[in-house]
Amino acid sequence: MHWTLLSPVFAGLLISASTLQTDSDPTPLAPANAAIEISSMKAHMGFLTSDELRGREAFTEDALKAAQYLRACLKQAGVAPGWNGEYFQPAPFEKVTEPVVPRLVLTGADGKTHALTYGSQFRVGGRRGLKSLDSLAVVPVQPEGQDTADQLKGKAVLFQGSSREWRTWWKQHSEDGIALVLRYRTGKKERKLLDRSPDRITPAWGERKGEGDVPVLTLYGELDGMLASVSTASIESQQKTETIHENNVVGVIPGVGTPEDPDMAKQVIVISAHYDHVGTRSGGPEEDTVFNGADDDASGVVVLLELAEAMAAGDPPARTFVFLLAAAEEKGILGTEYFVENPPFPLENIVCNLNLEMLGRPDDLVGGSGKLWLSGFERSNLGPMFQAAGIPVVEDKRPEMNFFSRSDNIVFVRKGVVGQTLSSYNMHKDYHQVSDEMATIDFEHLAGTARGALAAALLLSNAKERPSWNEGEPKGFLPK
Ligand SMILES: [Zn+2]
Repeated sequence: MHWTLLSPVFAGLLISASTLQTDSDPTPLAPANAAIEISSMKAHMGFLTSDELRGREAFTEDALKAAQYLRACLKQAGVAPGWNGEYFQPAPFEKVTEPVVPRLVLTGADGKTHALTYGSQFRVGGRRGLKSLDSLAVVPVQPEGQDTADQLKGKAVLFQGSSREWRTWWKQHSEDGIALVLRYRTGKKERKLLDRSPDRITPAWGERKGEGDVPVLTLYGELDGMLASVSTASIESQQKTETIHENNVVGVIPGVGTPEDPDMAKQVIVISAHYDHVGTRSGGPEEDTVFNGADDDASGVVVLLELAEAMAAGDPPARTFVFLLAAAEEKGILGTEYFVENPPFPLENIVCNLNLEMLGRPDDLVGGSGKLWLSGFERSNLGPMFQAAGIPVVEDKRPEMNFFSRSDNIVFVRKGVVGQTLSSYNMHKDYHQVSDEMATIDFEHLAGTARGALAAALLLSNAKERPSWNEGEPKGFLPK
């Protein structure tokens, strides 16, 4: 689970995901069978939360190891590959690196040159496209100015105005062939010095693809005097852009329909949990630096694995089941976003997403051990269906926390698919702390939630009633 939607651009990763080549599956695995077993759950949890996996941060070798483990688990359980004959669904990302600090030199009308300091006096924005450029003519523009494309093409534009004014101006001029943008606002203090530019990773699909081909340099410090007479700008850069991939792990158990309704096989239930977490922090040799992510969300992953094992060992379901172990949730629910943009079955056939998130500790507000809450309970017929079948699920008791929109289910919701999260998160203080360790997991409780989730999945597999939104839902979540 994450707090707020992060910017789709994030930075500062230490390991180059593109250099990851290992492709072996870790062994041994706990045996896969129909029973919900604490020993098996402990084995899965132990692997995922070990310090060796260093917090499973997306785009690192650690996340890859977790994904390989999960692939091996699905395979051993007899769950079929869910994406073009493979378990990995690779989502493409664009990675921009600047191995060498860029240099910016501005020249005044009097011929004087001013080298600006990277980090403190200028920083590089825009997604990519920065290359070395020599002596570009600088054209100063105002937010309300009437500059034409002829005047701007191939030039370095010096823009002075607020962020809002900038966005408005850029909408009108993004196609004008501008070579470089220098953004400056009087009074912006110098920033902290950087010794290198952090790597930037952005999704390379959907509407985000192709964003920001024009480099934008933001200028800081007291530069009014110098900028008043600037005539040319030169930049030196060795920026590199490459495509890297991060893997969703996807398995499928094909449905077989019922004698009365063979077409039920075409309806798809997606059970999901995210396997990434937030990595490590810096600290001394005696300090705990690993965010183990036991509750968030190794607990959901472990329950999903138990469900997958149990369902694969049982009778085939009437509806088709997809098991989605989602990548990069903590970076902004990116793996699931890619999944809904590239679903293995047509989106209109996906009748429901049941997401599993933070099930490792009992929540007294919903009745303690083995009891669950369902985010967005009041929005669909799912919760009442579960309750009518005796499954211990109630409404989310903390609606003010917005849990409905803070996990992978919300990406399905935005596509109109009934998407909700089963959880027992009790607001414990170890959320996103290095203390979210396996030792804090209550396995009797976790096994109880797994039995509840399995009962819910089995109900969804063959119930005549189809998951559906209540009247007027999902209120406020569909694109206008
Ligand atoms: Zn989280």
